[in-house]
Amino acid sequence: MAVEELREKVAYLQGLVNGLGINTASNEGRMLNEIIGVLAQVAQAMGELKQEQEQLREHLESLDEDLYDLEDEVYEERAAGDKEEEAEEDYVEVECPDCHETVCFASDVLDDEGVVEVTCPKCGTVVFTTEVEDTLEETEEEKVAGQEPAERVRG
Ligand SMILES: [Zn+2]
Repeated sequence: MAVEELREKVAYLQGLVNGLGINTASNEGRMLNEIIGVLAQVAQAMGELKQEQEQLREHLESLDEDLYDLEDEVYEERAAGDKEEEAEEDYVEVECPDCHETVCFASDVLDDEGVVEVTCPKCGTVVFTTEVEDTLEETEEEKVAGQEPAERVRG
C-alpha cells in the first residue's frame, strides 16, 4: 500500500470517529482514538522510510553511474595497454652495429630451439643471436651485448 493511501485512510478514520459522533470519552472511543493515533504514527514512519529509501536509491544510482564511467575508463586503458603490449611482444627492434639500420624481427623466433641468428638485411651483419657468445668475435660480441632487444613495457 502506498504511504499516501495509508495516510488518506487514517485521515478518513479520524474523520469517521468525529462524523459518527463516537463518544471519545468512552473506553471504546478512547481505544479507537489510540488505535487511529498509532496508525497515523505508522503512516508517518513509513513516509520517512520511503523518503530515506528514495535518497538511498538516488545515491546508489549515482554511484552506479560513477562506477560505470570508471569501468569504461579502466577497460579502455587496459585495451589500449594490451595493444601496446602486443606490438612490443611481436617484434624486437635492434640497430645494426655496422650500418645502423633498424632491424625488426618477430620475438617468437627466440622461443625456437637451437641457435637463432638475426642478420641485418642491408649488410648481413649478425645483429642478434641466441648463440653462446664465445663463437663470436670479441668486437661483435660487445656490440651485440650493447644491443639488447628493446625493453618491453608491461602494463
Ligand atoms: Zn647492417
